[in-house]
Amino acid sequence: MKSIIFKRPGLYTYEDRPKPVIKNSDDVLIKVLGVGICGTDIHVLMDPPKHPAKPDIIFGHEYSGEVSEVGKGVDWLKPGDKVIIDPHPPCGSCRHCRSNRPDMCTTLYSQQGTPFFEHGVTRGLFQDGALTSYTCVPAHSVYKIADETPFELAALAEPLSCIGYGIEKLDIHTGDSVCILGAGPMGLMFASMARANGATGVIVSEPHEYRRKKALLCGATRVVDPFEEDLKKICLEETDGLGVDHCIEAVGQLLMTAIDVIRPGGKVLMFGHDETAEPPIKLAEIVRKEALIYGGFLGKYYFEKTARIIESGVLPLKEIVTHKLPLSEYEKGLELLRSGQALKVIIYPEEY
Ligand SMILES: [Zn+2]
Ligand SMILES: [Zn+2]
Repeated sequence: MKSIIFKRPGLYTYEDRPKPVIKNSDDVLIKVLGVGICGTDIHVLMDPPKHPAKPDIIFGHEYSGEVSEVGKGVDWLKPGDKVIIDPHPPCGSCRHCRSNRPDMCTTLYSQQGTPFFEHGVTRGLFQDGALTSYTCVPAHSVYKIADETPFELAALAEPLSCIGYGIEKLDIHTGDSVCILGAGPMGLMFASMARANGATGVIVSEPHEYRRKKALLCGATRVVDPFEEDLKKICLEETDGLGVDHCIEAVGQLLMTAIDVIRPGGKVLMFGHDETAEPPIKLAEIVRKEALIYGGFLGKYYFEKTARIIESGVLPLKEIVTHKLPLSEYEKGLELLRSGQALKVIIYPEEY
């Protein structure tokens, strides 16, 4: 199978790998249909890298597929079922998994220097992933989605599950106001999900005009260029001087801005992931506002709901997938993303 292999920071190759086979009774062989290029992949490919990954694995972790074969213990999936896949299935046996915190599963933090670096479970980062024709995964990481769902929209399942869980933490209600910092694919999915949850004011702050225009198609009620306009002033204007109910930080360095724009008693979801960011914070602002600040990372228990959301068409996800490219044009996908000409690029295999 033609595959994209992560070799070392700054280097990947396009190589042939053998088709995987079912080994365990709960294994499922997945025919890959579409794989999203994630910001994390770009971070892994930087030199020095901004995210770790294990050398020599098949790359790609955000994907949709079709069941090709099932182990003898799997009676609820059959060949031909269209599916989405959780690329980091929780182990089920660590202290976190057994305390209803699968997103904290010990095996997920496979940083170099931890015992899990060699045995990390995340597909496409620490074990073979999806930028290929077939993958073999445990059945408990597989979720059915309606057959007619376009594969490129189903491939958004993993990021969308993280977003759905983040929105649940904020507990957004009809009539609420939300400010979103950043209109990359994640910021845009947040805007559309906040709107679908009933938010009536969705202010999106984004310096690039192309992305601001997309935000208006994804549920934003007002867009702001933070370099040309005063975001805090606009958030106050739009909320009768109070500040917004919720702010979602989808950049990775702007926690102080997020705290600045919320109302007293408002909530912040810190979602942008930048391991190097150490911004100065005015702590008294958090105290005075009695701000609630959440971290948002994964969304394991949101996959089932994510399948329903994607197949329902309730979110304008077509606006977010800007390119579909064959596996042999992976490099072009990376270039489009690095130059800011694309939002979500979906790669599909050319041979099975
Ligand atoms: Zn990702
Ligand atoms: Zn676990």
